[in-house]
Amino acid sequence: PDESSRLVVSGLTAAYGKADVLTDVSIEVEPGEITCILGANGAGKSTLIRAILSLTPPRAGKVSFGGRDITGLATHLVNRAGIACIPEGRKVFGRMTVLENLRIGAFGIADRAEVARRMDEVFAIFPRLAERRAQLGGTMSGGEQAMLSIGRGLMAAPKLLLIDEPSLGLSPLFVAETFAVVKRINEMGITVLLVEQNVHQTLAVAHRGYVLAQGRVVARGSTAELKEDPEVKAAYFG
Ligand code: ATP
Repeated sequence: PDESSRLVVSGLTAAYGKADVLTDVSIEVEPGEITCILGANGAGKSTLIRAILSLTPPRAGKVSFGGRDITGLATHLVNRAGIACIPEGRKVFGRMTVLENLRIGAFGIADRAEVARRMDEVFAIFPRLAERRAQLGGTMSGGEQAMLSIGRGLMAAPKLLLIDEPSLGLSPLFVAETFAVVKRINEMGITVLLVEQNVHQTLAVAHRGYVLAQGRVVARGSTAELKEDPEVKAAYFG
């Protein structure tokens, strides 16, 4: 596998104010795989993503990507290193068209032909976005906005995509479609770190994962191992 997309988080501690939200968190995202982070509300999953992106700078510990230390690196430089994020809540630009939203995702790419090529790729994955390219983002349905926010993340041509709870608030049909899309993106060669609460469907698409509880890693392993983990079973499959 392409080592340039390996993410290694070691001994990470992060906090808002005085209270630690993440304590000594170590995870590894294998190149070419989907790694998931599971955990209840408030476990610290979003904070882990924020810390990787330096939106919440880590207090201790190290983040390395492709062998390079990116701990605390300015967010735009983390993005430039090849890490894109699809944030929780699918923040699309409501007053901009689908096309404009996608172009913003490619702001770091100067080559227009490359932007056009990526746009075609996104439209191939999401034909609905192609049909509605002139529609304002804010008038798209929840499921369509989910597609648009994933499409925008792909426009940056990331090596690693961080996806924060993509299924949140979607109808069952769109939830299933979202997981299928995550799988497809991964099959295109993009390494994925997926934060989710939808445990069954996440374990069905991911290769391995971690369970966070109160800011600490309490279980880790391949998805097959996690399904058999006593704590995971008690919490999610009981
Ligand atoms: P959810 O699944 O509900 O999104 P999560 O696992 O992503 O939860 P985080 O959003 O990382 O959890 O939050 C972890 C803890 O940090 C929570 O107790 C939360 O209240 C707290 N927290 C998050 N953001 C801030 C902030 N900006 N200031 C203070 N505390 C915060």
